[in-house]
Amino acid sequence: MKTQEYIEMEEKYGAHNYHPLDVVITKGKGVWVTDVDGKKYLDCLSAYSALNQGHVHPKILKAMIAQAKKVTLTSRAFRNDQLPLFYKELSEMTGYEMSLPMNSGAEAVETALKLARKWGYVVKGIQRHKAEIIVANGNFHGRTISIVSFSSEPLYKEDFGPFTPGFESVPYGDAKAIEKAINKNTAAVMLEPIQGEGGVLIPPKGYLTEVKRICEKNNVLFIADEIQTGLGRTGKLFASEHDGVRPDMVIIGKALSGGFYPVSAVLADKAVMGLYTPGEHGSTFGGNPVAAAVARAALRVIKDEKLINNAAVLGEYFMNELRKINSPYIKEIRGKGLLIGIELIPEAKGARRFCVALKEKGILAKETHDNVIRFAPPLVIDRKTVDWALPLIKNVLMMG
Ligand SMILES: *Cc1c(COP(=O)(O)O)cnc(C)c1O
Repeated sequence: MKTQEYIEMEEKYGAHNYHPLDVVITKGKGVWVTDVDGKKYLDCLSAYSALNQGHVHPKILKAMIAQAKKVTLTSRAFRNDQLPLFYKELSEMTGYEMSLPMNSGAEAVETALKLARKWGYVVKGIQRHKAEIIVANGNFHGRTISIVSFSSEPLYKEDFGPFTPGFESVPYGDAKAIEKAINKNTAAVMLEPIQGEGGVLIPPKGYLTEVKRICEKNNVLFIADEIQTGLGRTGKLFASEHDGVRPDMVIIGKALSGGFYPVSAVLADKAVMGLYTPGEHGSTFGGNPVAAAVARAALRVIKDEKLINNAAVLGEYFMNELRKINSPYIKEIRGKGLLIGIELIPEAKGARRFCVALKEKGILAKETHDNVIRFAPPLVIDRKTVDWALPLIKNVLMMG
C-alpha cells in the first residue's frame, strides 16, 4: 500500500482526534524514520520527547525482548523481580526516596494530584474535600476530565464538562500571582518548568526558585510536571535544576521508556509518597515487569550515552545557528537544551505550512499553538546531522 491508501483507511476507520502530517512511518532508527514510500526523514519531534534515546534503541529493544520472553505481567497483586530494581535505580538517578509507576503521563499527573490532596488533608490539616491546587494558564498536563478541568485551552475542554473543582489557574511566569492565589486550603502548586505544548514558553529566570520559596513559606507542595522537559531534554536531568529547585514531587513519563512502551512515574520522598496506603491507588499495568525492564534500560542509556550533556551542547549550538537565520517570518527563537521553539509572526499565516514544507525536505517537525514550530530531535543527534538540517530549515523559513 502507498501513503495515500493508508491515510484514507485511517481517516475512514479511526477517530479524528489528531491532525497528523501526511507521512506514514514504517521504520525508525536513531534520529531517522522511513515512510512507506521509502523516503527518509529526520525526526525533530521525538514523539513529544518520548524518544530522547532515539528510535528503536538496540539496548532498550534487547531488554524489552528478553523480559517479554520471561514474564510480562504479574499485576501488583503479586511482586515481580524487575520492579524493585527499577525503584532503586530510579531513586539513585533522581535523588528521590520513592516512586510510584503508572503508564501514561496523564495517569501520573492524576496520581500526583491525588497524593497532593491527601497530603493536604492528613498532613496540612485542610478541611476534607476543600483542597485546592494552583496551576498555570497555558498548561498541558494531559487529557483526563480532571486534567482538562483546569486547562485554559477551550478546544481541550469546552465540550467535556462538568469539570472537577479544586483548581485555580494563574498566569504562567508570575510568582506573585501564585502567592496571591494561595490560601489556607492550598495543598499544592503544579507547573511545567517550560510549557512545551503551550508553545515552548520559558518563564523568567528564577521563577521556579521564587515559586518554591513561596510554597515552602506557606506549607504548600511544589509539583513539577517534567513529563516533557525531564530526563535530559533541556540539558539537565530535570528542567527544574536550571533554577536550582528540587520539587516535592516530580512527574515523569515519555522518555522514561525511550518510546517503547507507556511508562510514567511520580517521584517524591517518603514523607509524601509514604502517604499512599494499600487500595488507595493503582493500575493493572503500572509497574509491570516489561515496563520496569524497559524503563531501567532507558534510564541506563541516558546515563551511559551522556545524553543530558549532548542535549546541552547541541541544543545551544542548534539554537545559536537558528538565530543566525534572518527570516522576516521569525518573531522569536527560544528554548533550553534540545527543546526549541521558533515563534512566527502572525503574518506568516501559521506554522503548519512551514512544517509541511519541512516534511518535503525530509525534516519532521510539528507546529504547536498555531504559530510555533517545535524542534526537539532525539538527544542522540550529532552535530553532523544538525548541520545537515540547518540549511534546509533556513531555506524553508526564508521562502515562507
Ligand atoms: C505529554 C504530556 C503529558 C501527558 O502525557 P500522556 O502520556 O500523553 O498522557 C502531561 N504533561 C506534559 C507536560 C506532557 O508533555
